[in-house]
Amino acid sequence: MTFQIFSSLEIPETLAAGPGPGNTDQRVLQAFAGAGVADHMQADVLRGMVECKEMLRQLWGTQNTYTYGVGGTGFSALDCMFNAILPGDSVVAFQNGTFSGVDALTIRMKAATRAELSADAMSPQAASVTVVDVPHGTSVTGEMVESVLAEKKPKWAFMAHWETGSGRINDLQGFSEACERHGVMGLIDAVSSLGIEDFSIDDYPGVVGWASCPQKGVLCLPLTYAPVSFTDRYIETVQVNGCASYVHHPILEARHWGIMDGKDVAAGAYHRTHSGYAVAAFHEALRLTLQHGRAEKARDYAFHEKALRDAVTAMGCEVTSNMTSLVVLNLPGDLAGREKELVGNCRAVGFGIWPTLSEPVQVRIGILNQINRAAITDIVTRYGKAMNDLGAGLDLEEILTGLDNHYDTALAAE
Ligand SMILES: *Cc1c(COP(=O)(O)O)cnc(C)c1O
Repeated sequence: MTFQIFSSLEIPETLAAGPGPGNTDQRVLQAFAGAGVADHMQADVLRGMVECKEMLRQLWGTQNTYTYGVGGTGFSALDCMFNAILPGDSVVAFQNGTFSGVDALTIRMKAATRAELSADAMSPQAASVTVVDVPHGTSVTGEMVESVLAEKKPKWAFMAHWETGSGRINDLQGFSEACERHGVMGLIDAVSSLGIEDFSIDDYPGVVGWASCPQKGVLCLPLTYAPVSFTDRYIETVQVNGCASYVHHPILEARHWGIMDGKDVAAGAYHRTHSGYAVAAFHEALRLTLQHGRAEKARDYAFHEKALRDAVTAMGCEVTSNMTSLVVLNLPGDLAGREKELVGNCRAVGFGIWPTLSEPVQVRIGILNQINRAAITDIVTRYGKAMNDLGAGLDLEEILTGLDNHYDTALAAE
């Protein structure tokens, strides 16, 4: 018997300049590689998990006891949050791009009855779920949420805070107020906003469940933990009605983080095998973000996004997004239709930008962990070259002079 063994895998260093993931900080990678060999019940691993929980509460801006990390990616946290939705539950879900579209699919799968699930197993149409389609490139407004909730009076409502597919910020304040007004339990996909925008979830009492990820605002790509936070009302609902999952159970998953019977305990209890490497990396990523400062970091993102936005606008592109970590744009008229070719050319040379994943096709350039002048200048230079390679005929020097002026003016104003 001979085995087919491949040569060892080498992955090149690239510039991840898309909607996510962002480049992970060296400090986080060192924490990952430098952790000792220790099992999931070793005292420092457990202490690290409790400290992560405490730091996460500060990052989310919450007193919620049930605040911790779900092992996995953003969709792992979202799955845990959506597990409170049981077959037949009434839900209103707002979708305005790729990710809230996937979330709405998850909701339809969980709320579907057995008959609805088997009638269309991969995309069930659950009668108890209303999906409100908001056009790509536009935001969900408080008025939209108010009018649908007033009519439907569902048990749950869902929205993405920042929809990364189209780069749009949705109205969290309006969503929370409408949920409160109608006694609806709000659920929020905060995968793209946590660690970038400066907000405290306790300011939004209409929302009972929050889910984020380890690769966007909290930069910890050595696949670690996806932050979640649940209010007491959410947890009581799960306690009464149950949840059809052991691993992504919102109450059971919290045990390893030292949350038991609604209270903090000194050290966690076994739920599943956590990795000391992952805990060390996540701990360092949270320390980094809090050291930067939530408000400071949000200001830095807004400042550098504006620089990038102005530069691509000067190149003739039309920006349709309003997130501060990402620019979503249409190419100028004569290049329209060549978005995938442009993105493909960039990716071939290690410049990782993205097209949109659902229609219409647009270009997405992100600045996760690239919030400094040199990094933005590098992104603008590479992107401008790629446009010129397609025949845009831009005067790159002029574009870069404009970018320099942007930074010099801002510095002079300080
Ligand atoms: C990236 C993203 C997701 C998915 O996160 P993964 O880490 O890829 O699982 C979900 N929702 C939003 C809004 C996102 O931006």
